[in-house]
Amino acid sequence: MAQLKRILIAGGGSAGWMTAAMFARLFKGLYEIVLVESDAIGTVGVGEATIPAIKKFNELLGLDEDDFLRRTQGSFKLGIQFNDWLRPGSSYVHGFGVIGRDLEWLRCHHYWLKMRAEGRAGDFDRYSINTWAALANRFMRPRADMPDSPIGQIAYAFHFDAGLYAALLADYAQARGVVRREGRIVDVAVDGDSGFLSAVTLDDGEVLAADLFIDCSGFRGLLIGQALGIGYEDWSHWLPCDRAVAVPSERSDDFTPYTRSTARPAGWQWRIPLQHRTGNGHVYASRHMDDAEAETILLRHLDAAPVGEPRRLIFTPGRRRAAWVRNCVAVGLSAGFLEPLESTGLHLIQSAILRLVRLMPDAGFDPATIAEYNRQTDFEMERIRDFVILHYKATERGDTPFWRHVRDMDVPDTLARKIALFAANGRIFREDDELFAEESWIQVLIGQGVVPRAPDPLVDVTPPDEIARYLSDVEAVIAKCVALMPNHAAFVARSCAAPPLT
Ligand code: FAD
Repeated sequence: MAQLKRILIAGGGSAGWMTAAMFARLFKGLYEIVLVESDAIGTVGVGEATIPAIKKFNELLGLDEDDFLRRTQGSFKLGIQFNDWLRPGSSYVHGFGVIGRDLEWLRCHHYWLKMRAEGRAGDFDRYSINTWAALANRFMRPRADMPDSPIGQIAYAFHFDAGLYAALLADYAQARGVVRREGRIVDVAVDGDSGFLSAVTLDDGEVLAADLFIDCSGFRGLLIGQALGIGYEDWSHWLPCDRAVAVPSERSDDFTPYTRSTARPAGWQWRIPLQHRTGNGHVYASRHMDDAEAETILLRHLDAAPVGEPRRLIFTPGRRRAAWVRNCVAVGLSAGFLEPLESTGLHLIQSAILRLVRLMPDAGFDPATIAEYNRQTDFEMERIRDFVILHYKATERGDTPFWRHVRDMDVPDTLARKIALFAANGRIFREDDELFAEESWIQVLIGQGVVPRAPDPLVDVTPPDEIARYLSDVEAVIAKCVALMPNHAAFVARSCAAPPLT
């Protein structure tokens, strides 16, 4: 192949516009970039909760954070609250960021486990500033001048309107040279000799040729699946939720700096507070619940009036067998989708884009480059898959066929090993650059009732009274920091309130 010149992005949902914006920013006109999207087909229209890595993506684009939040009706997210997941009535928070501080060799939870066994420790929630602040409805950005204090270690992400985010990025990309074409792709040409994609044809007859094709066409996988025939690995035996029904509701006073996830008889329901409305959705397993019942449950649990009609989404949890094949790279839903729990959809897009930037082909499509891209993609997806499965597997619930199924199912060996290791002595190791850090695993394992038989034996190096002092010191410092933090709604009103909608 001659030098790579033209890139065609098929699809203008979050995946398409995030790719276009980042390419425009980093490649600075090196390539001609055309994005095709179809107004008639539209986008999936969900994807409102994120994880802290999105901050880096926005920073790399050079977006001003307050301006971005104003334009997307955004709010802040310190973590996710899981209600009724372990058993009806249970609640815990997966807060982003650190938990307490390490003492000697060990992480905070080992000392907590020891003191808890002796009845001398409070709830685990009390050792994370993110969790404590979330439950107190408080938010502030970390203080850069206090790196050693919990207040310097607040980690946060955002809730935002996905449609407005895509629109913001569309403006950004087009201002930097990306060409948008509205139209429906009706044909994809594959070169008979090489098997490479060569062009797409739009419904008005225009033919758009390119050297590299990014498939951002959503679940249909127009290029990678339909044109190149790359199959899909179905993970629904581990992740049985395969449908969702979503509806926004009017903004309520419960403007939480966290996403709420509440377990339901055959799945769970999300609640995401934005400035102009609250996003709600019920994710469920079609094998265990029909659409009508799922919608009734969703509507029954809204805390304000719904806005518009509920929308149904059907998906297959799993991944594309290869995300990069010849001159086509699938990014977004076309590359796979687990389910919305733990809000990793947009993150997978972001990391796919940055991985591709690091492995950009030049005058050829080197097999080793493609293999490395696919290896990294597989690893990332499998570790996130394990983390999501953990929430279902580690439950005491047996009150419905769905919960009995997930409680009793076999899980991937990679996850079974992690659970067994933690259950023994509370040990957890982040593998290579897997997405979720030890703190995330620890909070979800403990929250889901995987309590280690004993802490790491090294806790006995420290006298119990010293441990008790250390834990109450951590708690007291966090309490003091949280007391300094403003109310979330007040913080948003002051720093990034969106103008009223017209
Ligand atoms: P889409 O939004 O479906 O976009 C596809 C694009 O391709 C559209 O522009 C469409 O017009 C175009 N297209 C398709 N066919 C053609 C054609 N023939 N011709 C021209 N154009 C075409 N992620 C998170 O990070 N956080 C969340 O909280 C979250 N919640 C979710 C909840 C649910 C129920 C689901 C299903 C997903 C959720 N996600 C979430 C994932 C997130 O929504 C997606 O990762 C994200 O929106 C990216 O979608 P996409 O751009 O790949 O696909």
